[in-house]
Amino acid sequence: MGRVEFRQLDWSDAPYPMWLTIPQSETERCLEERLDALGATVERQTALRSLREIEGGVEADLVRADGTVEACRSAWLVGCDGARSDVRRALGVPLEGDTSGEVFMLADVAMESPLVDGEGYNVLAREGVLFIVPMPTPGRVRLIAHLPEARPDDPPVIDLPMLQRLVDTRTGLRTTLSSLGWTSVFSPKHFIARSLRVGRVFLAGDAAHIHSPVGGQGLNTGIQDGYNLMWKLGLVHRGLAAPTLLDTYQEERHPVGERMIRGVRRATWAMTLRVRPLQLVRRRVAGVLLRFARVRDRLGAQIGMLQLRYPASLATAAEPLSAGSPRPGERAAQQASTPALTERLRDARTTRCSSSTGSLGR
Ligand SMILES: Cc1cc2nc3c(=O)[nH]c(=O)nc-3n(C[C@H](O)[C@H](O)[C@H](O)COP(=O)(O)OP(=O)(O)OC[C@H]3O[C@@H](n4cnc5c(N)ncnc54)[C@H](O)[C@@H]3O)c2cc1C
Repeated sequence: MGRVEFRQLDWSDAPYPMWLTIPQSETERCLEERLDALGATVERQTALRSLREIEGGVEADLVRADGTVEACRSAWLVGCDGARSDVRRALGVPLEGDTSGEVFMLADVAMESPLVDGEGYNVLAREGVLFIVPMPTPGRVRLIAHLPEARPDDPPVIDLPMLQRLVDTRTGLRTTLSSLGWTSVFSPKHFIARSLRVGRVFLAGDAAHIHSPVGGQGLNTGIQDGYNLMWKLGLVHRGLAAPTLLDTYQEERHPVGERMIRGVRRATWAMTLRVRPLQLVRRRVAGVLLRFARVRDRLGAQIGMLQLRYPASLATAAEPLSAGSPRPGERAAQQASTPALTERLRDARTTRCSSSTGSLGR
């Protein structure tokens, strides 16, 4: 019905104007390598059991693999412990949202088919929606499918014969699946933590917002949370900015999480329509809308997540505008006029307290 091309978007200045899907293990390897280069180590098999705020910091009880408990003191604590966050629970921060009750499955598999290798497909079939997402290894794809007949409390078995039937029925193409890798069955949930901060403790990533993988927004949103928070924490911790700068984390990131969850919930609803007449309306509306380049570009830009703006944030609102440069709170695109800025923003450690923190800087 329509084709969304990322490289036609206005942000063609972006170094990677494409949809990139990689296995989660690869993402974790990249992140860990980077962390290593920055001098930090991930301590596996170590769990946070409890935490409490103390004078000028936070104390947490960590349980090691051998069962020993260690009290760990830090000035700040960031809970990046995923959807079932113990940190969020310890803070008593409520989640707001709902569970869709629908069942989806995900499977990484090799696929021979007449489809173009390296392109992603979204098949709005009568039997349920099917996403075919290219993986870095040629010929390998990630299949994500709605299973309208399945129940969350009775997850189906995902094997090659089941997948083969599903793909053949929904695409109507001759395909051959083999080498089944990672599989997962999940029920989309759409929740956001009411508050991303309690005193010296923060929430980021899935600990702060939980949503269905439709649209693939989760990981990027979590990384944006981390980036938004860390330079501010760095400045406040070193006494280079007023502590109120940290309030802008909630102010800037909570609405982004809310908007993202609203969009993903709507998309999940549209993707999981069961009533035939509504499916037909969906098909017709999507067919008409996707004829317009502007709609396709908007969709691509939304999925690309580079349209973030924080114009009304305390950290940027007081700033005067200077001609020709990005406005405070806007994305600093890689324009000819700003290569030095882009270079400096690449590494959060080099961020200095300057006029960019406005009245919040000391
Ligand atoms: C099936 C599926 C498919 C997805 N596909 C995509 C996609 O295509 N694109 C995308 O962008 N996102 C996708 N997501 C979402 C993405 O995986 C998450 O948004 C991302 O992993 C969140 O990262 P995180 O670090 O916040 O949390 P997590 O990745 O959940 O990491 C949390 C970590 O904290 C640890 N932890 C938990 N409790 C404790 C504790 N008490 N003490 C110590 N450690 C603890 C956990 O062991 C884990 O290592 C998908 C999610 C699912 C479920």
